[in-house]
Amino acid sequence: MILPQRPQRTQRKLKIPLLHFTLSVWLFLAAFFESRIAFFAPQQARAAVNTLMPLPAPLVTPSATAMDDPLQPRPPAWPSATLKRAPSPAAIMSATNVDKWMRADAALQAAICMTDTQINLQEGQIVVPILLYHFVGRATLERKDVSTSRYNVTAADFEAHLVLLRQLGYHTVTVGEIAAALLDGQTLPERPVAITFDDGWSEQYSIAFPLLQKYGMKATFYVPSSYPVGKRFMTWEQLVELRDAGMEIGSHTRKHVNLLDVTDKVADAEITTSKATLEKKLDITIQSLAYPYGLYSKRVVALAQQAGYRAAAGLGGTLLHSQTNLYALPRIEIRGTATLADFVAHLPWRGQGTSLCPAIQPTAPSPDLQTDASSALPTPIPQPITCTSSITRYSLPITDY
Ligand SMILES: [Zn+2]
Repeated sequence: MILPQRPQRTQRKLKIPLLHFTLSVWLFLAAFFESRIAFFAPQQARAAVNTLMPLPAPLVTPSATAMDDPLQPRPPAWPSATLKRAPSPAAIMSATNVDKWMRADAALQAAICMTDTQINLQEGQIVVPILLYHFVGRATLERKDVSTSRYNVTAADFEAHLVLLRQLGYHTVTVGEIAAALLDGQTLPERPVAITFDDGWSEQYSIAFPLLQKYGMKATFYVPSSYPVGKRFMTWEQLVELRDAGMEIGSHTRKHVNLLDVTDKVADAEITTSKATLEKKLDITIQSLAYPYGLYSKRVVALAQQAGYRAAAGLGGTLLHSQTNLYALPRIEIRGTATLADFVAHLPWRGQGTSLCPAIQPTAPSPDLQTDASSALPTPIPQPITCTSSITRYSLPITDY
């Protein structure tokens, strides 16, 4: 009777340390993961503050996170027939390269050769795509020359955008010139497009600015007036260079605050003092404002008007502008993760009828535009583009027109 009990006692003795061991392991694991959460959370918070991202979204996109995590499936590689990465700058200089891009990328060819969107303009309306960029060529947001963030467009992709705009006959205008067209009746060039940059990042000077100059283009740079200190942001000296090269410098408030989250007094100070600081430092009249995060309200619009801005920009997809949306100009975010076909899809005027698309292909109009069905007449073949406006002068010929 005793003998059978001995093993039971022994088992009980063994079970107790085993239970202690298991509990210890669980406690250790719980403490470990808690410490990791406690350790990483402040880092993420610091990163969010330091990067001053224009939108309340994480710096690393979900696709980039998936790439970082070996347990996550990797996104599919770009098909070889799809031209995600642009050719080298030297190759881009050849005017025939857009033809080569189109042969390599069926989606790009379809986008370029789509029929121009027919828009029934009301009196006082103009059509100008206003493009919005943040980072251009920021190395920390790229992996093997491919952007890992929607907020970063690689230098090669940005140059490809400029080449496409040039080949399609677009002429760059500043937001101040759009305001002058709407308020003063100034003439805009044919196929106008506005390129804008937010936040004053240093690569906008070191990478985007030389490329804009290479193609004889201009842009509007929205700078928070408390940022120009160098390192990650443009310096005052660099902003003076942009000014002297014909670029527009606009206000992006003083500290890039969400104007909907602060009192009237703070919002007014952000809007007015940034204008005054930029005007004093750069010896210019600041024409336009870009709302941080693209957020505004009637109260904010009234403050911008009172401060003396002639226009203000937010976010949005429409290409139509008039005096009624002069303080809420919609801008199209150009994402670093988009293809060249995606970029062209934002543009209202395409290449049909030009040497890029000798064979006319019937296609549906772009759905992202406000169109009037009654105006859906057969599309005329575009005539050669000539720059008739005194606003913009170009030294580079448009070879395909
Ligand atoms: Zn911003």
